[in-house]
Amino acid sequence: MKPAVDTLVFETVKAYSEWREKLRAEQPDAIVGFVPTMGALHQGHATLMRVARQECDYVVASIFVNPMQFAPHEDFDRYPRTFPADVEICKNVGVDAVFRPSVSEIYERPISDMTKVIPPKELIGHLCGFFRPGFFEGVATVVLKLFNIIQPTQAYFGEKDYQQLAVIKRMVKDLNLPLEIVGVPTVRERDGLAMSSRNVYLSSDERNVAPGIHAVISAVRDAVLSRTPVSTAISQAKVSLTAIEGLELQYLEVCDGDTLEPLEQARKPFVVLVAAKLGNVRLIDNVVEH
Ligand code: AMP
Repeated sequence: MKPAVDTLVFETVKAYSEWREKLRAEQPDAIVGFVPTMGALHQGHATLMRVARQECDYVVASIFVNPMQFAPHEDFDRYPRTFPADVEICKNVGVDAVFRPSVSEIYERPISDMTKVIPPKELIGHLCGFFRPGFFEGVATVVLKLFNIIQPTQAYFGEKDYQQLAVIKRMVKDLNLPLEIVGVPTVRERDGLAMSSRNVYLSSDERNVAPGIHAVISAVRDAVLSRTPVSTAISQAKVSLTAIEGLELQYLEVCDGDTLEPLEQARKPFVVLVAAKLGNVRLIDNVVEH
């Protein structure tokens, strides 16, 4: 039985590693679950932590807004940062340790001089990878660094960021990383909007129409399940999306649920993925059919 602990907060690799080494010496078989986040925590993140809490002896969460995954014109500086509230959520869920490094703790040299992880083109050449060049390199690189620092036995990622989950699973396989990746279904608001740290940027008008995105991709899923050709279902969905005031579509695709290869005729597992801007806020969502 593991002793009850308060949530510990570590700000340096050295301090965290000392704790991790002590744990390894005392309990070599302990299962350590890891939930990487960028903070501004909501019930989606809390759900990942709860699943990890149920499945693991120890749960570690990280809070790090990763500059490497933001392009210069994106929202790194104005990304919401709510650390005191985040720690409260971690405590309530029973997270054992929070790793909250500074940027210089993670990047000792300019990012342009760093060794990087380049995910395969077939996974990142379309969807978010097309609209955010360099994004998945930044994600994969920081996640590998965090895995090496945290030393988890399993790590938890949301299906909300479906392409990210696929990229991380592939990295773990291709690089023989000694841990298991667990995907957790998307947590939604009552009206269907996928929870996201960026939802706080939505104006009240944008917030009112945002659930339409989930309604439209659910309709695509239903249509292709009842054998409507993918191209027809997507054309119909684009008409519905045009009716959403202020929405600018980036992509809407039906893809293989494992490889993310675009599909013309749906076969399970498949996933309907969308990205759209509502005003200045970029929202992504998907529905999976396993
Ligand atoms: P982020 O802080 O946005 O980088 O997200 C950290 C982790 O939480 C990622 O694995 C996300 O996929 C996951 N996550 C974010 N929002 C949700 C959600 N609504 N439901 C499930 N997981 C989520």
